[in-house]
Amino acid sequence: MPISKMSWVSPKLKEGKSPVEGGRGVFARTNIKKGEVLTVYGGYVFDIKKFKNLSEYLKDFPYHVSDKLLFGPIRNQEIGIGEFYNHSCEPNAGFRDCITLVAINNIKRGEEITFDYAMCMTSNILNLRCQCGKKNCRKKIRGSDWKIPALQKRYKEYFIPFITEKIKKLK
Ligand SMILES: [Zn+2]
Repeated sequence: MPISKMSWVSPKLKEGKSPVEGGRGVFARTNIKKGEVLTVYGGYVFDIKKFKNLSEYLKDFPYHVSDKLLFGPIRNQEIGIGEFYNHSCEPNAGFRDCITLVAINNIKRGEEITFDYAMCMTSNILNLRCQCGKKNCRKKIRGSDWKIPALQKRYKEYFIPFITEKIKKLK
């Protein structure tokens, strides 16, 4: 069973080469139904100051569990398949709660599994170019993307819970 060092990863998933940027990605070994749990994350909780001290490689993996706190691995040996999900502007996975990633639609065998980093990021530590090639591609992915009404409408309950709370307060 492909268990990463800190996170549980569904045995229906495997690491593969992403067609998007040629880097690593996560792929379905078999068909997966909407709502199925893909990964339950384990990790450390730390602040942005600690984040800035991580190596450039390790900075790729943490996500926000509050505006000031991040969650993720802090050592190379703790990194597993659960850390290899790529961003997509048309994702097929999202968060059920702070640590649980689920399928947001049915996924076919061989498909790459992606989520939208807007679902779990609220700070400027995130500033990347997207080349997902989807119709809705935002090109630049920023920590403020959760504020985009179209994304709030599309992802509804698939944001990390504290972001869902922030969205409710905006309205
Ligand atoms: Zn994109």
